[in-house]
Amino acid sequence: MKNFDYYKPDTLKEASELLLKLDKSYIINGGTDVVVRLRNELMEPDALINIKEIKSLHEIIEEEESITVGACVTMNEMAHHKAVIHDFGILVDAVHYAGSGQVRNLATMAGNICNASPLADSATPLLVYDAKVLVYSPNGDREIPITEFFKGVRKIALEKGEIVTGVRINKYKSVKGVFRKFSRRKEVDLSTVCSSVASVDGEIKIAFGSVAPIPLRAYKTEEFLKDKELTDEVIKEASKIARTEVSPIDDIRASKEYRLDMVELSVVRGLEHIRDN
Ligand SMILES: Cc1cc2nc3c(=O)[nH]c(=O)nc-3n(C[C@H](O)[C@H](O)[C@H](O)COP(=O)(O)OP(=O)(O)OC[C@H]3O[C@@H](n4cnc5c(N)ncnc54)[C@H](O)[C@@H]3O)c2cc1C
Repeated sequence: MKNFDYYKPDTLKEASELLLKLDKSYIINGGTDVVVRLRNELMEPDALINIKEIKSLHEIIEEEESITVGACVTMNEMAHHKAVIHDFGILVDAVHYAGSGQVRNLATMAGNICNASPLADSATPLLVYDAKVLVYSPNGDREIPITEFFKGVRKIALEKGEIVTGVRINKYKSVKGVFRKFSRRKEVDLSTVCSSVASVDGEIKIAFGSVAPIPLRAYKTEEFLKDKELTDEVIKEASKIARTEVSPIDDIRASKEYRLDMVELSVVRGLEHIRDN
């Protein structure tokens, strides 16, 4: 492994300046992706910027209409937070399936989405909740809708010097839905297909991971379902439409055909859950 410099700034401004100043400099948060990539020489940084000393990034802030999870809050901290459990059950379920207990003690949701893997487990719940990614930018803070955050495999909508400070999710009046993960092993395995299917304030929202270069919403399927009663026929038709909205590949985890079948199955089971509960 090549030598690199390591920084632990106390402020976002300092961290952002380092990112702007240093070539091949990257943020390290929980490190559960970064360290694996370093070990496998998939990344060769000149510098790593650890953001864990920045106090404000460790907070979960509950407001009347939303909850903001700071970028350095670990998955376990988030999944044990009363308000998060109360309002964002689908997200808590998804995070529960990410890695092992040890991984979740370090891993963060911000790192999960910034790593921009198509199979990031927290992505599909955030997509159906229409979460906002909060960004510190040297040009002024901004918010990016999660639906516009993923740009490609390992590509996100951040500019150089920008840092995700947290993720804000609206508290909806009523959410009913499920996260589903298909993987080769029951625990500590990456998703072969993952999905969130939810009725959010009466509107059906559907998102998939691991079946396209980015985690995505199934907008055509959602449009088809608008104002429809969830009969068996409607559900079946919706699952067929969903199949046309994804572009999975064959890889060591599964075939393209298996993934397409699991997309259909996720829609059927997800919609049945919403209808029958
Ligand atoms: C054994 C093991 C099992 C795993 N299982 C799963 C699994 O089941 N499901 C799953 O989804 N993932 C899994 N992962 C992957 C990983 O744990 C998650 O993606 C995790 O959420 C990454 O968070 P982190 O804080 O460790 O990120 P890091 O590794 O610190 O960073 C990941 C990426 O995000 C960038 N980044 C981090 N924070 C910010 C920020 N605030 N602003 C801008 N960029 C930032 C970093 O520069 C880096 O590119 C597993 C990993 C391991 C080692």
